Amino acid sequence: MENFKIEIDGDGIALLTWDMPGRSMNVLSESSMAEISQWIRQVAEDDKIKGAVLTSGKPAFCAGADLDMMGSNASPSGDESPEDRTRRMYENSLSFNMLLRTLETCGKPVVAAINGTALGGGLEVTLACHYRVAADDPKTQIGLPEAKVGLLPGGGGTQRLPRLIGIGAALPLILEGKALDPEKAAATGIVNKIVPASELVAEAKRWVREEGDSEQPWDKKGFKIPGGDPYTRGTSQVFVMGNAMLRKQSQGNYPAQQYIMRCVYEGALVPIDAGLRIEARYFTKLLQDPTSKNMIRSLFVNMQALGKGARRPQNVPESSVKKLGILGAGMMGAGVAYVSARAGMEVVLLDTTIEAAEKGKDYSVKIFDKGIKRGKTTEAKKEAALALIKPTTDYDELKGADLIIEAVFESRDIKAEVTKKAEVQIEPDAVFGSNTSTLPITGLAEASERPENFIGIHFFSPVDKMGLVEVIMGEKTSQEALAKALDYVKQIRKTPIVVNDSRGFFTSRCFGTYVSEGIQMLSEGIKPALIENAGKMTGMPVAPLAMNDEVALDLAFKVQEQTRKDLGDKWTETASYKIVKKMVEDLGRYGRKNGKGFYDYPEGGKKRLWPGLTDLAPLADEQPDVEEVKQRLLYIQALETARCFEENVVTDVRDGDIGAILGWGFAPYTGGPISLIDTIGTQKFVENCDRLAQKYGERFKPCQLLRDMAASNDTFYNKFNPQKVAQAA
Ligand code: NAD
Repeated sequence: MENFKIEIDGDGIALLTWDMPGRSMNVLSESSMAEISQWIRQVAEDDKIKGAVLTSGKPAFCAGADLDMMGSNASPSGDESPEDRTRRMYENSLSFNMLLRTLETCGKPVVAAINGTALGGGLEVTLACHYRVAADDPKTQIGLPEAKVGLLPGGGGTQRLPRLIGIGAALPLILEGKALDPEKAAATGIVNKIVPASELVAEAKRWVREEGDSEQPWDKKGFKIPGGDPYTRGTSQVFVMGNAMLRKQSQGNYPAQQYIMRCVYEGALVPIDAGLRIEARYFTKLLQDPTSKNMIRSLFVNMQALGKGARRPQNVPESSVKKLGILGAGMMGAGVAYVSARAGMEVVLLDTTIEAAEKGKDYSVKIFDKGIKRGKTTEAKKEAALALIKPTTDYDELKGADLIIEAVFESRDIKAEVTKKAEVQIEPDAVFGSNTSTLPITGLAEASERPENFIGIHFFSPVDKMGLVEVIMGEKTSQEALAKALDYVKQIRKTPIVVNDSRGFFTSRCFGTYVSEGIQMLSEGIKPALIENAGKMTGMPVAPLAMNDEVALDLAFKVQEQTRKDLGDKWTETASYKIVKKMVEDLGRYGRKNGKGFYDYPEGGKKRLWPGLTDLAPLADEQPDVEEVKQRLLYIQALETARCFEENVVTDVRDGDIGAILGWGFAPYTGGPISLIDTIGTQKFVENCDRLAQKYGERFKPCQLLRDMAASNDTFYNKFNPQKVAQAA
């Protein structure tokens, strides 16, 4: 065997060590599955073997299935008919289920010695073992995360976990894809015992020798699911409540969660073999759904590629930031200081007064204290990070910094002033990154003596929670500066996208269309509740009017005013501008921050739509269908994303999809706005946009790029395929 080593000891216990050559993690690939089948046969048939212990030779136990293999399983092969394809996929997924079934019925006790993270298919293999012992390492993650990428656990997870720990405990874990540390996994009953890592294999062997039971609970006569099957009163409530909650959270947009519910419900009413067939059917159905394909491509494949540096210029040597200077210790600067010190960088946090700079440092204290309370971090880590942050007002302290991040007020003049002052202190090859959210980088770089080292490094708020960083190239930004900025983003473990300069760059610009379309609808007399409910139904995290309130209307108005001034004659007044102006200037309604915006925020009560909205714009006699409202809200964002491609602001499909999902929460089940257009088809998308443009205005008119792509029935993932683009370059 290539992937497994087998050693049989004097007691006849076979120690199977999973250690795939040339990979940092074990995954369920075709070759490892073939070898699992091989050793199961050996364990079952070799009389010298009394039982077996399965462990891993890598730091993690197994990270799950090879998603590339699953992707190719779901792609059409040759000229097979759709029915043949479905049959092939079903048989493939059933065969893995049957493989694990032979493991648990091999007649000899098998123990999983979980030495590190066991996720997805990795955990499913251990669930088919008769006993699970885990090493006592709080970093180990144990769970079935498939639902997070639009899949369901297709290796028996929906059948074995509920039978092991009960439906009430298993269902939320599978639906949310939540991972547990060994202690919690033991508390829920997934893991039987936790021991120090050095005793792991010994304890596993002891169990085989002293207690070894080769029959799974669900194969014993009279087995009952802990807590009862779906017909018992308590468990039936789990499904009633679960369905209601699922509907509320997913708005019916996520088939994976719906199928998981069905697998667990239907599977629990039949013997395990039939349950495994039910699971394989839903798994096959799900693999053919564009939702799961798009989610896997964006949230797994693309996100991993971007995180690993797919957009980094390859001919620049790798660098790392040792000393970081941050200008402005406000909300953003303080957040950047926290994530950077946590990653081990020395941080100089500069503001106009020492009080302001120290307040910025205090922010890190607060986050660490919260983390310590929740057991997520330690006092030692807090002290280590805090020792790295130096609050100051003195530019001299910036000497030796490899990177500066500027996060002062959103004003060109102030930004120009601090740029000049910082540049006097730093080395000529140090990079200067601005965290501006709206001001074009090329213009800001005019204040710099070395515009080739000037770049946009746009964080999202709150910095410690948001995973995206939008890196913006100014006209003169060099590839070296880009590489250094991306190396820094990697150091703080965030996902970068790279875009070219434009007003609002990519994320703020496209996100802006969503919130202003909501106000536009209001101006047309569409019922506010319809707008808000439709927004939530599209899968956006926050409804459009509520989102306006969160961002703050006065801030949005300021940005619009700046745009008006900058664009001069080219600027046109929109209905949305007029409403925001009235809200801010006449009514003093700024949003959540002053307790009144499109919503009222009664103290201690729940927010509710402001009744005065209908005075702002009287209700129309005829209200549109909810589907039309949903379409407008999603299309306007996708269309703006397509325009960003046409204008060369975005050049890589991965940036378009991931930037949208991580940056402003664009409906994740779509795989992002680019995947959305490709799934609808460019022809259909253009037709629909033309119809919307006729009804609602020019802003829905498709750009020329879309029309050309529709004419040749092209897709973005084909035309802007990263590999193709790289080859052409
Ligand atoms: P903030 O008002 O909370 O903080 C700005 C800080 O800069 C203040 O502490 C202020 O004292 C300091 N400052 C002002 N002039 C200075 C000077 N001359 N020298 C040193 N320090 C000075 O603002 P913020 O929300 O942290 O935003 C900072 C920047 O980040 C802005 O450009 C903003 O557009 C951008 N940004 C903000 C967000 C957000 O959600 N707030 C998101 C992305 C980017």
